[in-house]
Amino acid sequence: MSFALHGVGVSGGIAIGHAYLASHTAIEVAHHVVPEEQVANEIMRLDTAFNAVREELESLHASVIDGPAAAEYGAFLDLHRMILDDPTLSTAAKSYIAQNQCNAEWAVTQQMDVLMAQFEEIEDPYLRERKTDVIQVVERVLKALLGHPGYVPPPLKRDGDSILVAHDLSPADVIQYKQHWFTAFLTDLGGLTSHTAIVARSLNIPSVLALHHARRLIRDNDLLIVDGVQGVVIVDPDEHVLSEYRLRQSQLELEKQKLKRIRTTVSATLDGTTVELHANIELPQDVEQVKESGATGIGLFRSEFLFLNRDCLPSEDEQFEAYRTVARKMRGLPVTIRTFDLGGDKNLDSAKRVAANPALGLRAIRFCLAEPQMFNTQLRAILRASRYGQIRILVPMLSSVHEITQTLHSIENAKDSLRQEKIPFEEKIPVGGMIEIPAAALCLDIFMRKLDFLSIGTNDLIQYTLAIDRADDSVAHLYDSLHPAVLRLVAHIIRSANRGGTPISVCGEIAGDILFTRLLLGFGLRQFSMHPAQLLTVKREILRSNLPDIIPFTQKMLKADDPAKIHTFLSKLNGHAA
Ligand code: PEP
Ligand code: MG
Repeated sequence: MSFALHGVGVSGGIAIGHAYLASHTAIEVAHHVVPEEQVANEIMRLDTAFNAVREELESLHASVIDGPAAAEYGAFLDLHRMILDDPTLSTAAKSYIAQNQCNAEWAVTQQMDVLMAQFEEIEDPYLRERKTDVIQVVERVLKALLGHPGYVPPPLKRDGDSILVAHDLSPADVIQYKQHWFTAFLTDLGGLTSHTAIVARSLNIPSVLALHHARRLIRDNDLLIVDGVQGVVIVDPDEHVLSEYRLRQSQLELEKQKLKRIRTTVSATLDGTTVELHANIELPQDVEQVKESGATGIGLFRSEFLFLNRDCLPSEDEQFEAYRTVARKMRGLPVTIRTFDLGGDKNLDSAKRVAANPALGLRAIRFCLAEPQMFNTQLRAILRASRYGQIRILVPMLSSVHEITQTLHSIENAKDSLRQEKIPFEEKIPVGGMIEIPAAALCLDIFMRKLDFLSIGTNDLIQYTLAIDRADDSVAHLYDSLHPAVLRLVAHIIRSANRGGTPISVCGEIAGDILFTRLLLGFGLRQFSMHPAQLLTVKREILRSNLPDIIPFTQKMLKADDPAKIHTFLSKLNGHAA
């Protein structure tokens, strides 16, 4: 039976293919057939993972400090230990690997389903609810397994038409799919500017998030149409719908080809104002796409992605190689390396810090200043690479003069250590700050005095201005990039920076959304940084824009406080009937 699901389209285009379901736990697990000679190895991996979790639970037990909650916490750990030792989970998972020649991760999740079904039968509601403990224990085992990957699953075939369907994916999960081949992916959870969505965009394949029930309603191998523009998924479409979407798919492809013609055209408005277009990247390998897009620099290298999916920190040399590769490949064009923005929704496995409010916690520059050794390693690696191109350092989530001073001090320390070792680097490396906290926006003069350039991280600026967790799908409808407070704040930052002569760019998602191109131009923005896949569409919009026509509209928009009026102005500004 054909039916449609609606979610948030985060990455454009249309894909037609077959569903590939990932597993039930929050950690997504794929199924792989393991060669016979590797079966014993998979069983051993499973044993090792169970032992590691046993040790983990024991050490947690030992760390319980006497207090009102100690007895309860102890009982909870005992229960987890019992689940871990239940033969339905451990012994049966090993037999499952042997019988089905599959990977350990898959076997343990299959056995989890068996245990969950047994819990479902229990009449006592309290005991029935212990299902969640089973899931938590299995997640611990999966983390232990994934932290020590013995068997590396083969990538899906490049000619496959698989569409990944998952309940949720972390940014770290999605980055792994850069090596796999899915034609699209769908998740039940996720917000428009969550890092999961951002990485999805960087895969440059259609994706729809926040579908709520996709994982439950779609079956393995169902035929799907994914419309990443409208955020719609059609399950089991009939022939008529299929041929309509095939036609749209080829039209979109044609349009993409046509856009390539403006790749080398100078980016300027009709009145002759030039606008710089830079690209955002997550990994060094993204540079190929940057070059194809015709970007004249990298405005944001989210360096923390070098950290994800591994259980040890990348060494100074490893980081140096990554930064140098990007600098060399960009051949003298600016490369803006953002220092680690870890914490929030991007966590290091090895730093098991769980905060109640991660977006407001030890994230980005706060995390780096709290881990001086880690920060120093990164700074040294960036400085060493600075000889091989035009590298700039960008610091995320600065909120006070104190943090700027501490950061600049850390950079000086790293420089000193290199000088002592006679390792060359670019002495005048520019240091910039991300403006993504309202406090920074309101004290911009301090930032301008101390830093060489600024970049507005609108994804976070909106999150922190409106107090909306950008990764939380339940408040996604309140995340409003056109909120008068957001518009006024963004306009204020651009205006102040231009007046003070400090270079300013926008590197949040709105920089790559053509709905906002004219608005930002009207506010005075002359440098945009976005995912390379969006760059040519934004360039086309710039080539069609005339600043004298735009500015009066944007000024009116800043005065409006009624959301309906703001939308009407925006439609007119973009040349659409309101
Ligand atoms: C932003 O916040 O707008 C930004 C560009 O950084 P990130 O999305 O990585 O937080
Ligand atoms: Mg940010």
